[in-house]
Amino acid sequence: MAGIPEEVIDTVRARVDIVDLIQSYIPLKKQGRDFKACCPFHSEKTPSFTVRPDRQYYHCFGCGKHGNAISFVMERENVDFPTAIRLLAQKYNIYIPEEEERRPRSGARQYPGNPEQSYSEKKDRLFLLHEKLREWYAMNLRNNPEAPVAQYLATRKLSPESIQRFSLGMSLDSWDSAMVFAKNLGFTEAELAEGGIIKTFDDNPSKRYDLFRNRLMFPIWDELGRVVGFSARTIESDPKAMKYVNTPETPIFKKGRILYGMHLARSEMSDNKLGCAILCEGQLDVIAMHAAGFPNSVAAEGTAFTPEQARMLRRYTGRIKLALDSDAAGTKAVFRDAEILLPLGFDVKVVRFPGGKDPDELLKQQGREAIAEAVEQAVDFFEFSLRVFSEKNGSSPAGKAQTAKDILEQIALLESEAAKTAYTAWLAESLGLSSDGLYAELVRTARKEAERKERYARYEQEREDVRNQTPAAPAPETQAQKRYKKALMEVLEVLLEYEDAAVVAGEQIPPELLDQSPLAVAVNEVIQAKMLDEWSDSPARIIERLEPQGLISQELSLLLMGKEDAPEEPIPEGLTEEQIQEMKREKQRALNRKKKLALKVLSEDINLLKEFRLNVRMEQLMERFARLAPDDPEKLNLMAEIGALTRERAALRK
Ligand SMILES: [Zn+2]
Repeated sequence: MAGIPEEVIDTVRARVDIVDLIQSYIPLKKQGRDFKACCPFHSEKTPSFTVRPDRQYYHCFGCGKHGNAISFVMERENVDFPTAIRLLAQKYNIYIPEEEERRPRSGARQYPGNPEQSYSEKKDRLFLLHEKLREWYAMNLRNNPEAPVAQYLATRKLSPESIQRFSLGMSLDSWDSAMVFAKNLGFTEAELAEGGIIKTFDDNPSKRYDLFRNRLMFPIWDELGRVVGFSARTIESDPKAMKYVNTPETPIFKKGRILYGMHLARSEMSDNKLGCAILCEGQLDVIAMHAAGFPNSVAAEGTAFTPEQARMLRRYTGRIKLALDSDAAGTKAVFRDAEILLPLGFDVKVVRFPGGKDPDELLKQQGREAIAEAVEQAVDFFEFSLRVFSEKNGSSPAGKAQTAKDILEQIALLESEAAKTAYTAWLAESLGLSSDGLYAELVRTARKEAERKERYARYEQEREDVRNQTPAAPAPETQAQKRYKKALMEVLEVLLEYEDAAVVAGEQIPPELLDQSPLAVAVNEVIQAKMLDEWSDSPARIIERLEPQGLISQELSLLLMGKEDAPEEPIPEGLTEEQIQEMKREKQRALNRKKKLALKVLSEDINLLKEFRLNVRMEQLMERFARLAPDDPEKLNLMAEIGALTRERAALRK
């Protein structure tokens, strides 16, 4: 498991309560032994999303999504298993030991640069390095209030809370103090170079120096709250000095995939919190927005806003406010960002700050109320766009036609057809033009846009393919193994649905017919539970066993929840009593037919299981046979046994 010890996974399973967890995303309502909500995974008006505390399990009777706390996080946050564990560990304060601490203290300690070290171990070392440096830079700042960086920071009027919340720090006015600090902690120069902390002199490649010197340090966190890099601001007014020096691309720092402030903002964007994201220009703006009461604010880090960053935000919210600079460059950025956001289904609004200020200045000069007011007055992106283009193109007929064309290009980007129609009608009305004409134009524009999108998607896919050069997958299951698994799944379903089937199965499925696979163990458990009448605990045990393996199908999930909990189909109105009775009888007949069929499937599947075990046994015998010397007397015994098995198999097939 990518760098996460089993104990941590167990602790997460034990500590996280599914009701508590899901409630932190969506409001749940208690209903009998369950909790209900409108499903977060499909859109619905009456709640069919059901959380059952005693089984630590959820199931949606509408769309069939189901699972435990970890799968909920995977689904909702759109992350893989290790990431879900990390998110949960963070949320519930479960400590994940860093790679360094997990290694044995003596003996086989591996140092970086060691070829045996895996890629994920290497990344964990870099995370640790950055965390240590973050602490150290922050300490430098606290301990040197007279230093120029601290003096400069004082002029920016940041509150102590903001400085602490974003862990601002100071790099020393020295060529190698960070290098010395990190080397004392056991990091190598190779690691420091890989993390972008040190560089080599151009004229003397053997000499290395700190990249960040005498600068105000902004640690940069990834989505999960790990420090992955730094952005360092100069305090000199020298126009030749680079205003910001940033960590270069490293194994843990990928510029286009990081949003500054995201680790704090992501939990604030949901519908039961602030209900949207706010995208700002830079780090100081994000800090100001958080201080002004908008902890849902983020900024693209070191690059223009990218589709990857937009997709990251889309996992948390479908609404965004663009709070970029209120000048010409800012307007251009609004258009560029909207082009990325609209196709992803975002509802986009634009915030303008009075007097062309940015949030940082505005907060300093006019306080948080001024910011809150500007955010409150955010306008719909298309309103904003209409204003900009009308001003640019003028109100002559030709100007209006140009404005319509410009805005239709943006409307064509919208994901939803309904929104496209609605905005085209709005545009026609706003400009006093015929809406029919605009629709025709929209269709043409949309076709061109679709072609462009397809080209772009192909390009993205190619890039993604290059990135995901993952190691080869495990050997695929053989046909026989697939059939065996399917048979087990069907047996399990029949057993869960029909109490009396367990008796049949109990007689016909001796324990040796089942291997140690999770499904086989579950089948065995159900048979025993039903026969011993200890049924009530067994769904929970089955869930625990099968969920982590991804083995619970929709049908199985429904059975595990208990069919009686599924919402009943409504009886159509306007039927006579007799018709209703007939409908019920027909339903019962259908149920009987289904049961008969299920029992037939059960006996077929049991034969299949038997055959599978026979084949496995026969293969073992044949292999042994092939390894024996030609004159080994054991061969005769083996032949007899193989013969018996062949006859048994023939009988089964009949
Ligand atoms: Zn659903």
